[in-house]
Amino acid sequence: TKIAIAGSGAMGSRFGYMLQAAGNDVVLLDNWVEHVQAINTKGLTVAIAGQDVQHVQIPAALPTAIKDVQDVIIIFTKSMQLGAMLQSIKPLIGEKTKVVCLLNGLGHPETIERYLPKHNIFVGITLWTAGLTGPGEISLSGSGSVELQNVAPEAKGAAEELVAMLSAAGLHATYSADVLFSIWRKACVNGTLNSLCALLDCNIAQLGRTSQVNSLLASIVAEFSAVAATEAVDLDVPTTIAHIDQLFDPTQAGEHYPSMHQDLIQHHRLTEIDYLNGYVARKGQERGIPTPVNQLITQLVHTKEALVIEK
Ligand code: NAD
Repeated sequence: TKIAIAGSGAMGSRFGYMLQAAGNDVVLLDNWVEHVQAINTKGLTVAIAGQDVQHVQIPAALPTAIKDVQDVIIIFTKSMQLGAMLQSIKPLIGEKTKVVCLLNGLGHPETIERYLPKHNIFVGITLWTAGLTGPGEISLSGSGSVELQNVAPEAKGAAEELVAMLSAAGLHATYSADVLFSIWRKACVNGTLNSLCALLDCNIAQLGRTSQVNSLLASIVAEFSAVAATEAVDLDVPTTIAHIDQLFDPTQAGEHYPSMHQDLIQHHRLTEIDYLNGYVARKGQERGIPTPVNQLITQLVHTKEALVIEK
């Protein structure tokens, strides 16, 4: 299968590496020139916990340098870069191209529908992780999974083909009959743990040990749930809180600093807040649902971005 990875940072490189190893014809697209050059000269440097570092030959290019129509395009930019990426990959999309979006955050199907017909679009979530350690270098650990679904009802067969292709590469994919629920639940995990750990400069286990955590979770999740209901998604508050609570266990992912902490506090980069708490605040406002807590969290994260990011 001819696959382009649109945005080949940490996650895109992981997926590209695994899909090529399974025999697919993969190209890594990215607009970070140094990264593309490093991959083309030294190969993609892959460090897997407990194994020797590998240098894997995978073609890499700027998105505008590739012209041929792809069978599958997997998008892995950050949320705020999705629209610009879709614009630049238009020539690679044919009638039968399957475009897959597994980004964190809410509202992506709506964005993609501005560029593509519904039958080309497949959305979902992934629990895989990856780290980018320098141009052309990724670090991988742990396992993960993918859940995805077609946007157009008639494209279910195509979604099942994607699931088979991803699973054949060891990516543990499943077809979801209600992927919007999974997307909302993951966004709610990120909108509580990521946002709070970034603002409070702590890891997940530390947050879980505070006496305020229960009331913080209750007010954030209640607003997520009220806005989810306007999209016909049933994000039950007690069940969602119980799902988040189990993540505080230090023997699970507890001592881990979430990616928003890494972006904002450690690397001084912009965050995906507008697609998490910011989405809930914005849609709540449009639809007459009070969302003051998510509005405040969004403002605080943007304020911190302004403080730490050099203009
Ligand atoms: P990243 O920043 O490492 O990678 C994004 C890449 O896209 C960068 O290399 C950037 O240069 C490239 N890019 C952005 N706009 C572009 C454009 N217009 N043209 C070409 N290239 C462009 O991000 P990531 O950590 O791989 O995350 C990608 C998505 O996956 C995010 O939504 C994130 O929340 C989600 N996610 C990440 C992880 C993780 O462990 N890293 C886990 C689950 C989900």
